Amino acid sequence: MNTTLTIAINKTAKSKLQDTNFDDLKFGQTISDHMFVADYVNGAWGDFRIEPYAPLQLNPANATLHYGQSVFEGMKAYKNDAGETLLFRADANQKRLNESAKRMCIPEVPEEIFMDGLMKLLEIDSAWIPNKPGCSLYIRPFVFATDDYLGIRPSEKYKFIIFTCPVGNYYSKPVSVKVECKYTRAAEGGTGFAKAAGNYAGSLYPALLAQKDGFDQLLWTDGKSHQHIEESGTMNVMFMINDTLITAPTTTGTILKGITRDSVLTLAKEMGIKVEERFLRVAELEDALRNNTLKEAFGTGTAATIAHIAKIHVNGNDYILPEKDDTAFSNRVLKTLDDIKYGKIADTHGWIIKL
Ligand SMILES: *Cc1c(COP(=O)(O)O)cnc(C)c1O
Repeated sequence: MNTTLTIAINKTAKSKLQDTNFDDLKFGQTISDHMFVADYVNGAWGDFRIEPYAPLQLNPANATLHYGQSVFEGMKAYKNDAGETLLFRADANQKRLNESAKRMCIPEVPEEIFMDGLMKLLEIDSAWIPNKPGCSLYIRPFVFATDDYLGIRPSEKYKFIIFTCPVGNYYSKPVSVKVECKYTRAAEGGTGFAKAAGNYAGSLYPALLAQKDGFDQLLWTDGKSHQHIEESGTMNVMFMINDTLITAPTTTGTILKGITRDSVLTLAKEMGIKVEERFLRVAELEDALRNNTLKEAFGTGTAATIAHIAKIHVNGNDYILPEKDDTAFSNRVLKTLDDIKYGKIADTHGWIIKL
């Protein structure tokens, strides 16, 4: 991959690679040696650099700390059997970062800066991409306001940073979820479609209450009527009722446009599965649980790809879903996606960038 952006490179004098146990990686705790940084000043991005991952200096009046003008992304790179680096759908992440940025009055990051910065960073920290089956490199790009000013207005200065974390074989054990009918994650006209920092702070408290009751995660409902299933806190959700795959549409501005969601829907259609992008009513979900027409329920997201749902709590009742074998759609689509990501089968969708 040729890059054209001029990037100043300052490599670390002391790599953490030797001190890292790749057999014991906890998600988001082990961070690779370097980060890509760009600054937005006087209306333009500049000062592109790769430097050792290190603490930032921020003034206590930093606008992000007070008003949350901050957006992020999450994606992964993989190594194939030949040791080459494969990047999954990074162009989609770049576009989504800018959709989030626009909503939060944050300047967009041009594709060249995002992609060239990322490519160079992956080249320099290539040894951090695990080559064991199921392992990958999680990539966290983010943009935040850096004005030191307490007035509420869009900042004039920003930082764009990308850093990466090697992550272990992310097998998500089936999760239990509670249908949340009181609190709201996103409302129409709000910021639910954006990967904006504040959305996640706002979901912590309701999620904590659910965890105290023994549930792993929430299934959010719409903010107006609480009668339609929207998504989970960091995953879109899909339901197989009889032979139809149902997931919320992304047209209301309340649903995060998951790239895993889009990939699963694309593959489902190719597999001949009937797909409906529509809101599933809570009552409809309860009916399907009662008469056993709900065959599968699962979350989709970059971290786990597919997270099976084993228990659903709705309106005071717990429903258990049986374990899924290899013939289940969720497991078949997971296998196909993994095979594409690790370069084991042909990438017929243009999803993979090989470095
Ligand atoms: C990131 C995220 C997802 C999943 O998006 P992917 O692109 O598939 O990782 C779903 N819902 C929310 C709220 C998210 O933040």
